[in-house]
Amino acid sequence: MCAVLMLLGQLERMNGEAMVRDVETARQITAKIFHLIQTQEKSGKEVMSKGSSGMEVILASLEVFTILRFSLSHLMLFYCYLSLGRGRRVGVFVSKGGTGILFQILITAIKELPPSEELMLQLHSLLAKVGPKDRKFGVKARLSGALNITVNLIKQNLQNTKLLLPCLQVLRVYSTNSVNAISLGKNGVVELMFKIVTPYSKKNTSLLKVALDALGALLKSKTNARRAVDGGHVPVLLALYQDWHRNDTRHRHMLIRKGLLVCLRNITNIKLGRKAFLDADGMRILYNSSTECLPVRTLDPLVNTSSLIMRKCFPKNRLPLPTIKSAFQYQLPHVPAVGPVAQLYSQPPGVDDVVDESDDNEETDADTENDTENDEDEKDQRSANDDIETDLNKLHPKKNPGRPFEELRVYERFFLELSEDFQVSNFVPMLTRFQVPTAQALSPKLVPKSGSQGDCNSTKGQHTLPSPSVPTPTPPAPLTPLELDTIHLTKDQDKKEEARIPSPDTCTTLSSLARPPSQGNWGSDCGSEGAEDEGGEGAVLEVPDTALLLPLHDPDLYVEMVKGTHSVPQYAEVAYPDYFGHVAPTFREPLQERVYGVQRSKIFQDTERLIHPNDIVDKVVYDLDIPSCPVIEDDGESLKFNSQFESGNLRKAVQIRKYEYDLVLNSDINSNHYHQWFYFEVSGMRVGTTYRFNIINSEKSNSQFNYGMQVLMYSVQEAISGRPRWVRTGTDICYYKNHFARSSIAAGGQKGKSYYTMTFSTSFSHKDDVCYFAYHYPYTYSTLKMHLSKLEALRTPQIYLRQDVLCKTLGGNGCPLLTITAMPESNSNDHICQFRNRPLIFLSARVHPGETNASWVMKGTLEFLMSTSPLAASLREAYIFKIIPMLNPDGVVNGNHRCSLSGEDLNRQWQNPNPELHPTIYHTKSLLQYLAHIQRAPLVFCDYHGHSRKKNVFMYGCSVKETVWQSNISATSSDLQEDLGYRALPKILSQIAPAFSMASCSFVVERSKESTARVVVWREIGVQCSYTMESTLCGCDQGKYKGLQIGTRELEEMGAQFCVALLRLKRLTGLRNHQHLLDLESDIIGTQAKVVSPTTYVMEEDEPPFLEPIDYSAESNDEDAEPENEHAAEVQGNPDHLDQLSDSETNHRD
Ligand SMILES: [Zn+2]
Repeated sequence: MCAVLMLLGQLERMNGEAMVRDVETARQITAKIFHLIQTQEKSGKEVMSKGSSGMEVILASLEVFTILRFSLSHLMLFYCYLSLGRGRRVGVFVSKGGTGILFQILITAIKELPPSEELMLQLHSLLAKVGPKDRKFGVKARLSGALNITVNLIKQNLQNTKLLLPCLQVLRVYSTNSVNAISLGKNGVVELMFKIVTPYSKKNTSLLKVALDALGALLKSKTNARRAVDGGHVPVLLALYQDWHRNDTRHRHMLIRKGLLVCLRNITNIKLGRKAFLDADGMRILYNSSTECLPVRTLDPLVNTSSLIMRKCFPKNRLPLPTIKSAFQYQLPHVPAVGPVAQLYSQPPGVDDVVDESDDNEETDADTENDTENDEDEKDQRSANDDIETDLNKLHPKKNPGRPFEELRVYERFFLELSEDFQVSNFVPMLTRFQVPTAQALSPKLVPKSGSQGDCNSTKGQHTLPSPSVPTPTPPAPLTPLELDTIHLTKDQDKKEEARIPSPDTCTTLSSLARPPSQGNWGSDCGSEGAEDEGGEGAVLEVPDTALLLPLHDPDLYVEMVKGTHSVPQYAEVAYPDYFGHVAPTFREPLQERVYGVQRSKIFQDTERLIHPNDIVDKVVYDLDIPSCPVIEDDGESLKFNSQFESGNLRKAVQIRKYEYDLVLNSDINSNHYHQWFYFEVSGMRVGTTYRFNIINSEKSNSQFNYGMQVLMYSVQEAISGRPRWVRTGTDICYYKNHFARSSIAAGGQKGKSYYTMTFSTSFSHKDDVCYFAYHYPYTYSTLKMHLSKLEALRTPQIYLRQDVLCKTLGGNGCPLLTITAMPESNSNDHICQFRNRPLIFLSARVHPGETNASWVMKGTLEFLMSTSPLAASLREAYIFKIIPMLNPDGVVNGNHRCSLSGEDLNRQWQNPNPELHPTIYHTKSLLQYLAHIQRAPLVFCDYHGHSRKKNVFMYGCSVKETVWQSNISATSSDLQEDLGYRALPKILSQIAPAFSMASCSFVVERSKESTARVVVWREIGVQCSYTMESTLCGCDQGKYKGLQIGTRELEEMGAQFCVALLRLKRLTGLRNHQHLLDLESDIIGTQAKVVSPTTYVMEEDEPPFLEPIDYSAESNDEDAEPENEHAAEVQGNPDHLDQLSDSETNHRD
């Protein structure tokens, strides 16, 4: 059994010197070992099983033989040995330093004159085998000086295919190192490879394949790509590709054709390359060849790569806009010199901000790679951790007194409950109220459960006012809005007056509303005035009766609310969905499965614009930049668009083909970007026809539209038929980078950026319909006001509800502040004391206008808090809720996605909010500062948000410990003293709320978030349980709703469950039982071990790969434009090709 091991032992005992002395013995022993290994498979295993020290011994002897310059025979044996096994043995060989020894042998052997061809052949075969398994192969080759040896061998043996093949295989591995690629390019290797791959010939296809792979790798370097362009090789590659396309009729050489495309793909990463490609008619060549490949599924990799190249080379267009500044401007009371608005409006006249010279600015595309190896893992690690707060000082919450208490005292008026003594005469003690039988007592409102039909109906009756016989407690008087001058500001009154827009002469017309659909001419006209009169002529609009289903909705009340809403464009129309209301459908809306090939078919259609320009209509049908008449009159051949209503934001619609439209979204007011949210109206459609819509100025590099999310559509005809609802709609949805150039002005100074297209197709089922499309379920400011007004009606004598106006926004809209708790049981001292001393819960939402889901979650919270369920009653008795349901009314009203009228993200202003520019944040923070001053800081603070790139609902919190764990900073254990309480609420939520996912939560403090509500409230106010709650805009991939898109029912349920969780939190704390904390500890340890918890600083979502490569993130001037999933796609599509994949390709999957 131990023959090999014995021999190894002998060899081991001979140290290096002994071997030199007794070469012959060493040689004999080695020969025996190799003989045994060769003849008996068992022996090979023995070598490996000896803790792999056997390999070390062999390598040591090999090293000695190198010095002694006689290695050939052993090398051959060794080669055989390696051949015995694949994969693992090579891996061990590499890990023991085998690569370096092979290079040493190569350097030594080349000095022999003439070098033995046989030896070179064997060495390169071996290197070709080892190379792909050794991550540092390229560096070792360069440092040992092996690069040139291989290159020279290739040059000298172009006709000697036997030697040429292994040399090319090794060169292919060398070339994957970017520093090597540059150096090889300098030595003429790019030209050399072109010499090998041209002209078309089916001789030696394996050689050709390897040469193309090497060339492809070399061309990733920009200098090499330019070399190829300068050498006139782009037309050559295209011609060659056509030759192969024509002659490879049985598709046996797919990988060669793919190799040619990869070369083209890498060359077209530089502008010169794209130009050469277009000049050589590349678009047409790839378009035609791809069209011919389409029917053959195994050729998909060719079609996919072609479509990526075509998309990249499509000549950049400008957006069809005069300026990217929002169509509406709002005059700020003062414009801070360094703010975004100053920047926006201070551009010299004549500057074209839609397109700049950015795309022509690639002249400096010389290689910037320096002579360091970029270890991808390390790099990723570093960039992922870059954003973590590492300053321990900042990690320790330091209560910041903020403004002096004298200034804060004015906020006392918002906390009447803390001083209320209920000694007024008509105070009704709790007991009597309990005895009054009311409808509420009969059917307690339960936490809404999604999917359970009819629970909407069951709520009927609960919301009736208390019986008139019951004396109502004095409703706390609503306050007048807080005036800026009452809080000692230095700004003068005049400026403030300017800030207010003149109150629009509100003759809010429901222009299209007033006409029944049967009369046709739906949608909106340019002149909406007078529409009301027309409607008055006997036309009766059938308003769906939703009172039963939507207790908080009332169309007439909505219109009243709209009249008091101030918008910058002074909207005078109301969108039907907001008027009729939305009743969540009872059917399931699954995440849409992505159809294979959808992206490339869209890119093909886009490419056809270039190939068949005569088919393009290019007709503007809606244009907000013509304020007098944005809806362009036409012959009825086009759709009609409109979005001049609250939260609408379509700027322009261009008909591209008969049934295809390009849509441009308006920027946030006083800004030139943030395009994501959309809400617009369409009419004049044909029934049964499929229309394609493209939103062409999206900015994010990825979107849940690529992962199952659909758009929302509302049909007025459906609504009138008794189904007033938004439904998930759209097929062929995908999100990809398009050919519209994004000026550096709108891309944060970055040049050469593009916009993204969000495309969807849909058909309409009703004639004369008016349909609406939205990014997510709309929830306007007027809707909020209506809901708040209806909530008032839910008040029972037991409920303490006060609605104040915290302040006015820049646009003149009030910012509501709600206080909800239970009335004290009696006006006895004890009860009053309990009432006043309830812990506070502070909630806010909708600082980001585009995150409408946050408002639906908030609606769920508010409705639950006002409900008659025993849980809700206990909750009210346990806490005082202070709620600001909409922190950014102006943004919501004006259809912004992210900002307020100041052109800024309000959730980045919490550190230093400006009272004039960010009034809602300034005053909300002041409320919290006031509470901190009077030692009543809230127990929990939570700001509701929506997340566009992740699924499920989850929370972000702040933990010193977890932040330190994620970073590399050293901290003493005293630094890490921290109560685990911050984990309790999310943990409870993960147990009771089906949409909530603990795995997505993060408690890391990021630098980029230091001015968000969550971090500031934690750090300055000292609230340990300070959270952002993020709800998906898309759907869930875990829990009860796994595989479903999220709807308003689920969102509202989430808001209600949030309340239930607070109650459970109360009970847990009340028990003084720390068992739950221990659970939390193990929970944390669990997540730490997994290290899968995606956090905010990892910006991209972790979605599973698609069969189709989605190259949406690669910038055209980005070197690493390699679609990651491409190889996987190829393999899955063609299992037969697995073996043919080059080693370097297989290596990626290890
Ligand atoms: Zn947000």
